[in-house]
Amino acid sequence: MPAADPQPLPLTHLKGIGPKTVEKLARLEIHSVQDILFHLPLRYQDRTRLTPIGSLRPGDQSVIEGEVELVQVKQGRRRSLLVRLADGSGALFLRFFHFSPAQQHNLVPGARLRCFGEVRPGPASLEIIHPEYRRVQPGQIEAVEESLTPIYPTTEGMHQLSWRDLTDKALTLLDSGQLCLPEHLPQPIRQRFDLPSLGEALGFIHRPPPQTPLALLEGGDFPARRRLVLEELLAHQLSLRQLRQHQRSQLAPALAGDGRLCQGLLAGLAFSLTGAQRRVSSEIGRDLAQPVPMLRLVQGDVGSGKTLVAALAALQAVEAGAQAALMAPTELLAEQHQRNLSGWLGPLGVRVGYLSSRAKGAERKERLAALASGELQLIIGTHALFQQEVRFHALGLVIVDEQHRFGVHQRLALHEKGSGDGRVPHQLVMTATPIPRTLAMTAYADLDISVIDELPPGRTPVNTVALPDSRRAEVIQRVERACMNGRQAYWVCTLIEESEALQCQAAEQTAAELSEALSDLRIGLVHGRLKPSEKEAMMLAFKNAELDLLVATTVIEVGVDVPNASLMIIENPERLGLAQLHQLRGRVGRGSVESHCLLLYKAPLSENARARLEVMRETNDGFHIARRDLELRGPGEVLGSRQTGAVRMRIADLVQDDALVPQAQQLADELLREHPQAAQPLIARWVGQRLDYGRV
Ligand code: ADP
Ligand code: MG
Repeated sequence: MPAADPQPLPLTHLKGIGPKTVEKLARLEIHSVQDILFHLPLRYQDRTRLTPIGSLRPGDQSVIEGEVELVQVKQGRRRSLLVRLADGSGALFLRFFHFSPAQQHNLVPGARLRCFGEVRPGPASLEIIHPEYRRVQPGQIEAVEESLTPIYPTTEGMHQLSWRDLTDKALTLLDSGQLCLPEHLPQPIRQRFDLPSLGEALGFIHRPPPQTPLALLEGGDFPARRRLVLEELLAHQLSLRQLRQHQRSQLAPALAGDGRLCQGLLAGLAFSLTGAQRRVSSEIGRDLAQPVPMLRLVQGDVGSGKTLVAALAALQAVEAGAQAALMAPTELLAEQHQRNLSGWLGPLGVRVGYLSSRAKGAERKERLAALASGELQLIIGTHALFQQEVRFHALGLVIVDEQHRFGVHQRLALHEKGSGDGRVPHQLVMTATPIPRTLAMTAYADLDISVIDELPPGRTPVNTVALPDSRRAEVIQRVERACMNGRQAYWVCTLIEESEALQCQAAEQTAAELSEALSDLRIGLVHGRLKPSEKEAMMLAFKNAELDLLVATTVIEVGVDVPNASLMIIENPERLGLAQLHQLRGRVGRGSVESHCLLLYKAPLSENARARLEVMRETNDGFHIARRDLELRGPGEVLGSRQTGAVRMRIADLVQDDALVPQAQQLADELLREHPQAAQPLIARWVGQRLDYGRV
C-alpha cells in the first residue's frame, strides 16, 4: 500500500542553495527537493558526438570541432564578427553580433574550437549565430557529453547549468535512498501498461542514457515519459472526479415535468427539432428528473440551436414548479436571450425576467422581490445573478451559456443559490464553440457531455477568403455592391490591445472612414463603450434592416442573430484565435442566401497565422476548427484564460498525448474502485493547490 509522501526535503538541504535561489525557485512553485525532480525538461540537445561540418543541415543543433581559417569584421547593416571554421569535411561561418576585444583576441586563425549551436543558412554558406564555443588544444581528445543534454523551463536568473546542477544533486539523493518518492501507481497498473517505476522514469527523463536517440525523445513516446504523462493525466482526472463526487453527493430537486409547456413550445415553432437536439434534450430531461444534481455540458457548433435546447430544459423545470436561471457572459447576449425566450415562453404564460448589473433602485428591488417570491419563473442575466443579495424561491436549474468565459468558481457560486432546503440546483453548461473531445474530457471531467452534432437543415456554408489589406479598396466596393443588392454586412474591427478604449477608437475611425467612402449606405457602430440602451437600439436597427452596414468590435462575437446579413469583413483576423473567428463568422450564413466572410489580414503573415487562416478557409466545421486551434495554439487559448488552471500540465501535452486521455479516464475509475487510498497522494503530487476548487 503506498505510504503518504514523507516530509518534503527543504531546498536548503542541497549544498550551494541560498535564499536567492530559493526565492527564484518559488516563482516556479518549487518548494522542496522533491519538487525539483518534478521540474521536467522541455527538450533535449544532442551533445554526445561530434558532427562533421560537411554533413550538417539547416536546423541541426550540433557539436562541431574545427580550425579557424579566417576572421573578419563585416560592416554591413549590423556590424558582425565572422569566423570561418573548417574540419576537413566542410566549412561554415560562426557569426557574432556582439563581441569583445578579448573574444577577437581568442578567435585567431589556426585556433581549434569546439562549438555548439543551431545551424542556419547564411549568405555564403551555413552559419551558426552566437554559438557556445571554447578553445581546445590541437591533438588533444576532448570528451563529449555522455548523455543528451536536458533543457529545462526556467525563470529569470536561473541558467541551464544551474538546473543541471540542481537536478544532479536531487537525483543523487534519490539514488542513494536519502530522498524518498513513494510509488503511487499500483503494481498491476504499471504492469499492464508496461511502465517503469517512478524513480526509473524520473532518472530517464532528467538524464536519458547515452545512446538514446534524440528522435525517440522528440517523438515523445517512450516508457519513462508515458509513465509520467499517464500519472499526471490520472491525477487531473482524479481531482476533477473528486469535485464531481462531492457535487453528486448532494441532493437536487427531482424535476419531472408533465411536458405540457415543452409541447406547447414545440407546437408553436415554425420548424421541428433536429435529431441531435431531440437526443440531447432527452438526455437533459432524464437527468433533471433525478434527485441528484445534473452536471451536463452541451457542446454544439455555432448555430446548432443550443438556445432552444436550453429553453426546453427551463420549461421542464418550470413545469415541475421550480425556477430556472440562464446566465450569459455579456449584456448583449443576455439581452438577446431575454428577447428570444420571452418571445417563445411568454405566450405559454411563463413569467420571464431580466436582471442586469445595471438595473438600479426601485427596478432592481422589484426584480429581486419577484425572484425571491417565485413570481418570476425564468430569470436571464449576466454574472449579476451571482451577487449575494440575489435570492431565489426555488431555484431548480442553472443554465450557463457560452461557458468558457466563466470560471469553475463562478459555476460553483450559483450552486450555493439552491432553494435553501439543502438541495442544490441542476446545472446545464453550454459552450460557445466546440471543444476537442480530449480537451473537454480533461477540462470538464466533472461534467457529463452531450454533443449537438447536426445543424438545422437549409444552412449554406459560408464562403471564406483571406485577402491582404492592400486590397482594402476592393473590399469596400464589395460591401457597397452587396448592400445595394439589399444585403446587410458586418465590418469587424479587432485590435491586439486589450484596452477596450483603443478597440472602440479603432472602430470609430473605421466607421468614419467607411461612411465617407460609402456615403449612400446607412452605417451603424457598436462597441463596448456604448450605453446598453444605445447598443440595443443599434442592434435592433440593424436587425430591422434600418442599417446596411454595422461596424463593430468583437462585442458582436456571441449569439447575435440577423439572418439577412450575408457578408462579414474581419480586420486583422491573424490576431484572433480560431474559435473566436469561427464564432464571429457564425453571425453570417444564417439565412438562405450564400454568405461570404472576408479575412482582411495585415501582410506579411507569420507561418502560424497563415496556417490558421487556411483552416478558416477550408472548413466551416467547428469541431474540426477546434482541433486545429488546439494544435496551433494550445489548450489555454482554446479554453480561454479562466479555464486553463484545469489543464495546466507539467509534462502531459493534450495534443501529443491525445490517446492517453481516455485511458487515464478509465484508470481513474479503476483506481477509485480498487486502490482508493492512492488518489489523494496522486492529486497532491501533480495537481497540488492549483485546482483549489477541487476541495470546494
Ligand atoms: P447556437 O447553438 O449558436 O446558440 P442558436 O440557438 O442561436 O444557436 O440558434 C441559431 C438559429 O437557429 C436561431 O435562429 C434558432 O431559432 C434556429 N434554430 C434552432 N433550432 C432549429 C431547428 N431545429 N430548425 C431550424 N432552425 C432552428
Ligand atoms: Mg448561443
